[in-house]
Amino acid sequence: MKVIETVVAMRGRRRETEGAVGLVPTMGYLHEGHVSLVRRAREENAVVVVSIFVNPTQFGPREDFKSYPRDTKRDLALLEPLTDVVFMPSAADMYPEKYDTWVEVGGITERLEGAARPGHFRGVATVVAKLFNIVRPARAYFGQKDAQQLAVIRKMVADLNMDLQIIACPTVREPDGLAMSSRNTYLNAEQRRAAAVLYRSLTLARELWQQGENDAGTIRHEMTDLIGREPLADIDYISIGEVNTLKELHRIRTPALVSLAVKIGRVRLIDNVVLE
Ligand code: AMP
Repeated sequence: MKVIETVVAMRGRRRETEGAVGLVPTMGYLHEGHVSLVRRAREENAVVVVSIFVNPTQFGPREDFKSYPRDTKRDLALLEPLTDVVFMPSAADMYPEKYDTWVEVGGITERLEGAARPGHFRGVATVVAKLFNIVRPARAYFGQKDAQQLAVIRKMVADLNMDLQIIACPTVREPDGLAMSSRNTYLNAEQRRAAAVLYRSLTLARELWQQGENDAGTIRHEMTDLIGREPLADIDYISIGEVNTLKELHRIRTPALVSLAVKIGRVRLIDNVVLE
């Protein structure tokens, strides 16, 4: 496994590479969710590149860029058996002085995470477009955990005629259902216990739908009620939308994305399930 720390060196390495390249973009502090993407990339490509870059442009001014957890040594040890190249550029290399080009995906970025985090998806789309240009992968791997991010990337790839395949990978969960996330480390023991309410509410949504309920308002109401009984949880949004456009549905038509953002203390968690 080779660790590459500059854009120039990554491009050089790419030029010498033959066969399909699979790219897994990450912000590091890796967990089993990330590793599942890397394993999938390993199965499907000759060469696996994992990027680790805490992208400053996707964080809002009051968000956790500075405190975002980082542990490069541990990340590299986890990747060693599965990865050919780890690309860890500096922010100054990715965004040199006078950097001034941005990728703005319209429409779907206005809702949900985009509404709650202005500029977030502009930063995500820009850095992912740059990584695609630098690494030139045949396939790139993203988690269903960040469902809106996945939809934004798919839209960018379609609209800008980018020549690669986007592969969605299922959400990896803790035994109590909490979706694995680097941000889970912010939770104290009591908050960690409370955080299981996100997946419990998503499971309730799925059960109601399986029992024949197809009124989105009713399902949202039941989820709100369940989460409301957890004193540490504060709902940011609950959405039941069309999977590609994320437009809210009144009557559920499948596939539908049930997604939510909930604050547990100061920690904002997101999760989702697809009804299909
Ligand atoms: P991040 O490091 O949080 O930017 O995540 C990097 C990639 O890993 C993104 O495509 C995420 O959607 C994906 N990912 C994060 N958590 C999980 C999880 N629990 N299961 C599957 N994929 C995940």
